[in-house]
Amino acid sequence: EGALDSTYIRNHIRTVPDWPEPGVQFRDITPLLQNPKTFRVLVDLFVHRYMDKQLDIVAGVDARGFILGAVVAYELNLGFVPIRKKGKLPFLTVQEEYELEYGSATVEIHTDACKPGDRVLLIDDLVATGGTMIAAAKLLTRIGAEVVEAAAIVDLPELGGSKLIRDLNIPLHTVCN
Ligand code: AMP
Repeated sequence: EGALDSTYIRNHIRTVPDWPEPGVQFRDITPLLQNPKTFRVLVDLFVHRYMDKQLDIVAGVDARGFILGAVVAYELNLGFVPIRKKGKLPFLTVQEEYELEYGSATVEIHTDACKPGDRVLLIDDLVATGGTMIAAAKLLTRIGAEVVEAAAIVDLPELGGSKLIRDLNIPLHTVCN
């Protein structure tokens, strides 16, 4: 994987200005998923990176992390577990609350989503402030799993999240910014 892959992927992500509110540059990955070739390149980048990492399971973050995470898990012959926004998971859960610009959000995972010691790949689509990825990693750690790497398609480094994640000693991989 290198600069060519990164440019190719970036060129198929659409930036929508001022959505969902003024000042936000929304990185829309739907063109990347819609095109069969770019979708395959994207999935294969992740599969090749993780195929020899002795992983036990893939966790994906609600909702765009489900799309990439589930396909990568399938291709790696691994299972997939969802990390969801509060109130969606039916069984016993652990929760992590984190701060947003206005207010807070909560993510949850089933307590039996991983076995203690499981080597987990954590996937979301994008890192902005890092709050979501950090909360998701904490959930996995709390149920005894080891986050081998957190991965996203896009990093917005100017928002500081990727630095925050790495400062917490959570290995982070992103394809482009
Ligand atoms: P954060 O917790 O601030 O790192 O935000 C990351 C989460 O919010 C991810 O699940 C993204 O899907 C979503 N998100 C935040 N900012 C953006 C953005 N500019 N474009 C697309 N998705 C975003």
